[in-house]
Amino acid sequence: MSLKDFRIIAKLGEGAYSSVYKVQRISDEQEYALKRVKLLNLSEKEKQNALNEVRILASIQSPYIVGYKEAFIDDSSMALCVIMEYATGGDLFAKLGQCYKAKTRLSEQEIWAYAIQLILGLKALHDMNILHRDLKSANVFLTKDSDRIQLGDLNVSKVLRHEMAYTQTGTPYYASPEVWRDQPYNLKSDIWSLGCVIYEMCTLKPPFKGKDMES
Ligand code: ADP
Ligand code: MG
Repeated sequence: MSLKDFRIIAKLGEGAYSSVYKVQRISDEQEYALKRVKLLNLSEKEKQNALNEVRILASIQSPYIVGYKEAFIDDSSMALCVIMEYATGGDLFAKLGQCYKAKTRLSEQEIWAYAIQLILGLKALHDMNILHRDLKSANVFLTKDSDRIQLGDLNVSKVLRHEMAYTQTGTPYYASPEVWRDQPYNLKSDIWSLGCVIYEMCTLKPPFKGKDMES
């Protein structure tokens, strides 16, 4: 499979290292999300490692994990391309933001449902000894009628994430103390982040906020 098999419909998001597009597979008009991760200074071996990791992700079968379909390297743009299920309901961070603006809350029932689904999604990963490493509301995706959530933005490449300082991977509100101290990441670090997301679903703000990195 290659980029030529897909038509780009819209850009969904852009980060420092990656861009996400809504695409359509030309052969059957199915819609997918395509994530392109720049592989700037990676050796051939590191590229293969990145590809292998995504293929492991593709083997995870859980209704609570965004389905990964396919991965390939686009040589012309030196990017790792990951084809995944398209989540039509946006992300949880956006949904909580809408609640905040409208001065409403998620119902207790919704919070329980999402929390349980998050736990089941995380368990599916942990059962395979895969750590998420970046669990936060912006990486939790919703189905169209918001009745189900799916964990996404799985560490597409440990190789890539490894090289980034934590502060560069985005918002640090969900990072556990050991992560802040640069100590090894483990399953419990994901559980810390999970707690932060559940708190945020209840109160519409993350539990630990600071004006700057130090605080
Ligand atoms: P990163 O945070 O590494 O830039 P993400 O995978 O979190 O990448 O995606 C960035 C944004 O792209 C998300 O906040 C979301 O808006 C959109 N997006 C990502 N994956 C999907 C998907 N499978 N379906 C729909 N939108 C997605
Ligand atoms: Mg993300």
